[in-house]
Amino acid sequence: DYNSGGYMPINIGDILKGQFKVCRKLGWGHFSTVWLCQNLVDDGPTYVALKICKSAQMFAAVAQDEIKLLNETKLINAGHVGYKHIVQMVDTFRLMSVNGIHTAISMEIMGPSLLHLLIQSDFRGIHLDGVRRIVSQVLKGLTYLHEACRIIHTDIKPENILIKVDENYIRSIIGKTEKFAELGLDMPRSYVASDCWTDQNRELADSDEDILSRFEGQRGQSYPYDKFLGELTDFRKRHTEPRLNAPMWISPNIEIKIADLGNACWEEHHFSSEIQTRQYRALEVILGSGYSFPADIWSVGCMAFEMATGEMLFSPKGDRESSANLDHLCLIWETLDGIPQYITEKGANSRHYFGNGELLGVDKTLLRIWRIEDVLVEKYRWKRVDAIPFAGFLESLIEPDPALRLSASMALQNEWITMNE
Ligand code: ADP
Ligand code: MG
Repeated sequence: DYNSGGYMPINIGDILKGQFKVCRKLGWGHFSTVWLCQNLVDDGPTYVALKICKSAQMFAAVAQDEIKLLNETKLINAGHVGYKHIVQMVDTFRLMSVNGIHTAISMEIMGPSLLHLLIQSDFRGIHLDGVRRIVSQVLKGLTYLHEACRIIHTDIKPENILIKVDENYIRSIIGKTEKFAELGLDMPRSYVASDCWTDQNRELADSDEDILSRFEGQRGQSYPYDKFLGELTDFRKRHTEPRLNAPMWISPNIEIKIADLGNACWEEHHFSSEIQTRQYRALEVILGSGYSFPADIWSVGCMAFEMATGEMLFSPKGDRESSANLDHLCLIWETLDGIPQYITEKGANSRHYFGNGELLGVDKTLLRIWRIEDVLVEKYRWKRVDAIPFAGFLESLIEPDPALRLSASMALQNEWITMNE
């Protein structure tokens, strides 16, 4: 995609706009590449994340929508409790390359995503107190987006929730990146979450250095980062007490922010009828019965389950869209012990999947009703006293009727969130 209309070619060390020194790649998406940059001018933050969009007209137009949305979240109410849980834009400008003119958005720099955290936990999940802190901050961010800005995020999922880090962390990441480059190894493409803030693994984080030194001999050869991450995981496993399925403990002062408004829209102005990443997609979106803020809340429910157990609440199978939808609806049916007929009849897609309130073409005897509370106890070996309030909380986030689903601010009042406060 590094061609005309595509990504801007960037090298580490480049200085952009005479101001931003490129230190390392942070990530990329369909529309953009994102770079950690040092601001050489004494104005604004020292480090920023610079999102540089593809140059073709359609990408430039999408970038303009994202800027408009980011601008609103920046201006509407900085005093709101949820304001600090939305990743903020710093500035925007244009950059020229051989591939065209690229829109650039500088944003406050963030650390690893919750997906990194899940990987770090070897998909065992995060300790429940940590999940509570994370989910309550996500809900605060959504209260701001929904109630103050009237914006629907439409893509809430672990990789779009980023962890706040301090400048020391950023500097250590830059140091490591330079060391990799010296050794002629491929640049690490993503952060290693434990580097900065999972206290339990703090000592182990130093072992990155050990592993790096073992690769010294490979100087000049390109070492794939995935392989590095694999070795790192194995190394950690060997150096960690066996804790069968014990969730990962995380530092109490974790702070997160919601990122990627690239797919967001206004309550009154949708860009697409199909939104959200499959596993986090709300029932009303699958059925085509219209969506609004509650669709984000459904995704929070799915994400909260995943953070606590390390596994997705719904992971539908099926290579065609329609078979994946049907499988998804079966999974929802099994989890909620059925879906009310007035809901199943409402959507533009309803007739493909439901007749008389029953799933079409599905042998009912093969459905296995398995409520969240029981899943937590039977599959994840939770104590029932922990499972009951958490399952109750989750069920009010994945309530099939969007009108009855908790809003972000109501969810913040739920007893599972307020317990231990
Ligand atoms: P796209 O809209 O092209 O998908 P995103 O906004 O999702 O781009 O950014 C792509 C990746 O870049 C993210 O998944 C994340 O890893 C990284 N990233 C984005 N914004 C930041 C930020 N402010 N700080 C640190 N990393 C970021
Ligand atoms: Mg993205």
